[in-house]
Order: sequence, then C-alpha cells, then structure tokens
Amino acid sequence: MFDYAPAPESRAIVDIKDSYGLFINGEFVPGEVSFKTVNPATEEVLAEVTQAGPSDVDRAVAAARAGFQTWSNLPDIERSKYIFRIARILQERSRELAVLETLDNGKPIRESRDVDIPLAAAHFFYHAGWADKLSYAGYGPDPKPLGVAAQVIPWNFPLLMLAWKIAPALACGNTVVLKPAETTPLTALLFAEICQQADLPPGVVNIVTGDGSTGHALVTHPGIDKVAFTGSTEVGKEIARSTRAKLTLELGGKAANIVFDDAPVDQAVEGIVNGIFFNQGHVCCAGSRLLVQESIADEVLNALRRRMSTLRLGDPMDKNTDIGAINSAAQLAKITELAASGDAEGADRWSPLCELPERGFWFPPTVFTGVSQAHRIAREEIFGPVLSVLTFRTPDEAVAKANNTPYGLSAGVWTEKGSRILWMSQKLRAGVIWANTFNRFDPAAPFGGYKESGYGREGGRHGLGAYLAH
Ligand code: NAD
Ligand code: MG
Repeated sequence: MFDYAPAPESRAIVDIKDSYGLFINGEFVPGEVSFKTVNPATEEVLAEVTQAGPSDVDRAVAAARAGFQTWSNLPDIERSKYIFRIARILQERSRELAVLETLDNGKPIRESRDVDIPLAAAHFFYHAGWADKLSYAGYGPDPKPLGVAAQVIPWNFPLLMLAWKIAPALACGNTVVLKPAETTPLTALLFAEICQQADLPPGVVNIVTGDGSTGHALVTHPGIDKVAFTGSTEVGKEIARSTRAKLTLELGGKAANIVFDDAPVDQAVEGIVNGIFFNQGHVCCAGSRLLVQESIADEVLNALRRRMSTLRLGDPMDKNTDIGAINSAAQLAKITELAASGDAEGADRWSPLCELPERGFWFPPTVFTGVSQAHRIAREEIFGPVLSVLTFRTPDEAVAKANNTPYGLSAGVWTEKGSRILWMSQKLRAGVIWANTFNRFDPAAPFGGYKESGYGREGGRHGLGAYLAH
C-alpha cells in the first residue's frame, strides 16, 4: 500500500476577522453580545460573532421590509442581473469560500471545493435564469413575491443551504433575513461581503448571527411573510406551531439505500460509502440504513469493509482527506450516545483501524450489522458516519422496511432492472429517489420530504412556488 504525502490546502487565501457584526441594510453593524466559532478539527477559535437579540432582529426585519419596496419593484431583468453577478463572484472567490467553509465546519476541503461551493454558485445561476421568466413557471401570468422571508439554516452545508434559501427568494422578488447556524456563521458573513461587492441594494439580504433564541425571535417576528427552515424535526415542529407565516420545512431523514442481488457490487459499494460517509454523515438525506438483499449480503459487506479501510480520516484541509471532523462537541456526543445504544441493543459494531487526531471532534466511519428494525440506530437520525445494515429477501419486504420510518426524505435503489427502479420509486415514500447513484444534487431538481421530513420543495420550478403568492 502506498502512503499519501500530506497535501494541505493553504489557508492564506482567506482573511478571517477577529470579530464580526450583523449585516443589516447593506452594512455591518456592531452588536452587544458575542460568541466564538471554532474550527472543529482543532478547537482553535476562528472569530467572535455577534449574538443577535430581539431588537437586532427587529432592525433586520425593518431593513428587509424597506428593501422589499426597492427590490420587488425592480424590472425582473435587473433582479436577474444582480443574481448573476452574485453567482459569478461566488465562482471567482470559490477557493476562499471553500477554505473558510472547511475551517469553520470541519468538512474535507475536497468536498467544500468540489461540491458545496460549485453547487451554491449553480443555485444562483439557475435562479438568475428564472428571475425574468416567472410568468412561465406555472404560477399564473404575473406571480407576486410574498414579502420578507425569515430563513434559518443548519451547519451541515452552510453556504449551500444559504444558496438554497436566498437564491429562489431573491429571484421571486422577496427580501430576506437569514440566520446561519451558530457553529458555522463565517461563510454567510463572507456572503454578506459578496452582496456588498455585487452592489445589491441595501436591505435585500440581511444576515443575523446567533443561536436558537435568535432563530426563534426571527421566525416568530410579526413583520415576516414567509419562514423557510432547515434543521431538526424537533425545532421544525416547534416552528410550525408558533408561526403564522407561509412555511416550508426541510427536516431530518433516515433514508434506506437498497441494494438488490443484481446490482453491480463495486458501484453499489461506492454509493453506500458516498451515501453515509459523505460530509461525515451530516446529511439529512444520508443513506443511513443499508437494506441489502440477503443472498448478496456477505459479498457486499466484505467489499464495503475493504473499501472503508481505504478511507482517510484526518486534517480536513488536506486534499486527500475523505472524512473530516464532526461539527461540534454536542453532535459528537449525540453520535457517541446513539452508537452506544447500538452496542447495548445487541448490534455488531465495526470500524476500520484509524487513528483519531487528539484535538478536535472525531468519530470513525462505523458499520453496524445484526440490526433489527426496532433498534434505535435503525429508527433515529444519527447525523454522523454510522451505517445500520438490515437485510431483505423480496422487493415487497424491501419497500416495507424502507418505509418503516417517520421520515421520508430520500432513498436509493441499486439494481440492473429499470422496471424494478420504476416500481420501487412508486412505492417508496420519499421525496428524492436515486437510482444507481446517491447524494446527487442539481438546482433544477426539487428536493424535500414526506411525513416528518418536512413539507414544501426547494429547487427547480417547484421550489419557486414557496416564494410566490399564488
Ligand atoms: P437545530 O434544528 O437545533 O438547528 C438548526 C438551526 O435552527 C440553527 O440555525 C439553530 O440555531 C436554529 N434554531 C434552533 N432552535 C430554534 C428555534 N427554537 N427557533 C428557530 N430556530 C432555531 O439542529 P441542531 O441542533 O444543529 O442539530 C440537531 C439535529 O438536527 C441533528 O443531529 C440532526 O439530526 C438534525 N439536523 C438536520 C439537518 C437537515 O439538514 N435536515 C441539519 C442539521 C441538523
Ligand atoms: Mg465553526
């Protein structure tokens, strides 16, 4: 076996300030209370960030309301130009954004460079294209924006989730107040600078940082017309109870990745690995339950263990790293606790030999076999690099087990038979179903859940509907 020499990306390209204010009405304004954001791979403090209180949220909503007058009255083609400009600046500054995302989040630079940032830019390009064609989107001849959108996002894809929220809102003529997650605010604050660079009119995009209390103040503010939330099902339910604004929710998942006996095993194994170890498993649509047909279970699991032994865990800034850091101590504790419940309930745990760095938050890629549907690791979202393996004999049994969850965000089907893919995709209760691939995203494809995974769609023509009065 060859060893890889270290190949660290330089962090010199990004200029992190010691402290950041809030981005309100096109300017950074200082706040009173602050908190720290750390690099989860090293626990190094990266910057101090403002904890926005209710009066800050008030100011941001007022700025967005004033900005709405300007923004919604611009000719559609002018809005389109601004959004194109933002997309192009995201591309121009992509290396800077990728490095900053990896430092603040802990994800491998290879993923932030090749997935998060290019997809974020693609979302702005895609929606720039819609901004002057809304009357052809199927929402009536002259669809109108809703007004001010309150947007709260999680830490797993910080800039990409920002793009999923802001790009369609702006394209449809709304203005926004967005709150990034407390552990990953830095790329949103750099995005605020990009709005300045793009000469976006003041008040169109406002960024307030803070924890759940800031999020609560924002989504319950009487001055908003729309709430878009991505995060845990628990908080999503609370928001659904407390807001009267138009609401879209993107919540958790417990997706089945289903491998039939006629699937090409090596490709399926790549898909299983991508499904659960991409982004340390911090993915709402992660393929966290592997359903493998009994007759090929041993073959698939042996191949999977071999493949997992080649995954490189460590410095997220190294271009050869596959598995980076867990985003926070709290998330690591949650993963550790759920994995321990797998042991306690009698499942068999396996991880490849891998040394965990001494500082920072780390969890090895892990597979549980001998899992029953009743086990917590088969039912609860772990949101970490932990795969639970179950087996099935017939397609009907695969469908029944896959659907046996309160969630319904995504699923994967691996088989040579096109007819079986179509049959399965009609039976599976999930918003996205991948066939012979997994975790593929495109701005033109709507994304969203059934049941406790939320409601509403983001992306594509469908996603526009969430930001238009119709
Ligand atoms: P969370 O739902 O607590 O946080 C998501 C966002 O909501 C953050 O910006 C947070 O500050 C904000 N928030 C928290 N409480 C709020 C409230 N009462 N009102 C308004 N906003 C509020 O998620 P978390 O604690 O970061 O993670 C917990 C679990 O959620 C994870 O283990 C995972 O299972 C799930 N999760 C899912 C997704 C997803 O993409 N679907 C993303 C992150 C986390
Ligand atoms: Mg951080």
